[in-house]
Amino acid sequence: TKTILLKNRPEGKPSISDFEFISEEIDTALAKGELLLETKYVSVDPYLRGRMSDAKSYVPPFQLNKPIQSGVVAKVLESKNEKFASGDYVSGMLNWQTQQVSHGEGLTKVDPSKAPLSAYLGILGMTGLTAYTGLTQIGKPKAGETLVVSGAAGAVGSVVGQIGKILGLKVIGIAGTDEKIELLKNKFGFDAGINYKTTKDMKAAIAEAAPNGVDIYFDNVGGPISDAVLVNINRLARIIVCGAISVYNNTEAPKSLSVQPFLVKNSALMQGFIVSNYTDKFPEAMKNLSTWLAEDKLKYSETIVKGFDNIPNAFIDLFEGKNKGKMVVEL
Ligand code: NDP
Repeated sequence: TKTILLKNRPEGKPSISDFEFISEEIDTALAKGELLLETKYVSVDPYLRGRMSDAKSYVPPFQLNKPIQSGVVAKVLESKNEKFASGDYVSGMLNWQTQQVSHGEGLTKVDPSKAPLSAYLGILGMTGLTAYTGLTQIGKPKAGETLVVSGAAGAVGSVVGQIGKILGLKVIGIAGTDEKIELLKNKFGFDAGINYKTTKDMKAAIAEAAPNGVDIYFDNVGGPISDAVLVNINRLARIIVCGAISVYNNTEAPKSLSVQPFLVKNSALMQGFIVSNYTDKFPEAMKNLSTWLAEDKLKYSETIVKGFDNIPNAFIDLFEGKNKGKMVVEL
């Protein structure tokens, strides 16, 4: 069995030397209630960067020299747990490990005949749920309003924009390459896209794309991109702070925001959230996401990297924007 451990807490951008690969025999003799799992797909996610630091957060940090964990889809090779049978597929928070023994807690059965297994880590998993709950619960969208999404071509952002279209919004996406902007418009049905890497005046570009102002901002990135959106908000705008990938690798102290006056004068709401705050909405979210997928109203992209050894690189590549849609590693 191969396992990936956290070797160092990254300073700034994570690098491959922050991870250690080990090979060892694992004890596969199962006790009652246990399962032997073979990993099939591993989710790499920006939030894992936070868990690699030892700063206090909503989930405890990873421990040094212990396996890293993330969302995983695995096949049950053997089971002594009555809830799962050999041959089942499950998803849950599991180790970055080729095979592992689990007690079955926190695992959910997934059905490969209903959707490709990787989809349970994206559109029908954590990132789909994040898009749905954040937009509906905090964004409270009303048809005809204007939504801006940053990190728009990623796993969460691409779904937020499409749900926005389904709910009758005008949707503008911000992403980092022209190819991603084309994808937003042609595949995901966004009304407009702005490449933040080639646009000199983001504030003006957003004003131009949103002539009626911004009613809802779904923020995945933080930093100067968000400042440029916030100066364009309307009265009673809702700002959903989902993530801030542009600052996750910062080593200096946070800079102060200078956009608060725009919140004050517009009586705007800015709210951070964690998808796990909304477990009561998951059944509704799953029902709508699967229906829209079946009706082809919702599309998804995945960047599938092959090979267990490439998990750390796939994770690091998130910070370079190498993915379109959900980044997953296939074993
Ligand atoms: P993505 O699939 O969006 O991947 C990350 C993307 O971020 C990259 O593709 C890149 O696209 C963009 N990016 C990287 N660096 C920068 C930068 N410096 N400035 C602007 N954009 C950058 O990841 P997810 O969809 O999984 O996550 C999106 C956000 O949502 C993250 O901030 C994440 O932490 C957060 N999140 C929050 C959850 C919650 O419960 N609150 C749950 C899940 C995710 P580009 O080419 O456009 O730069």
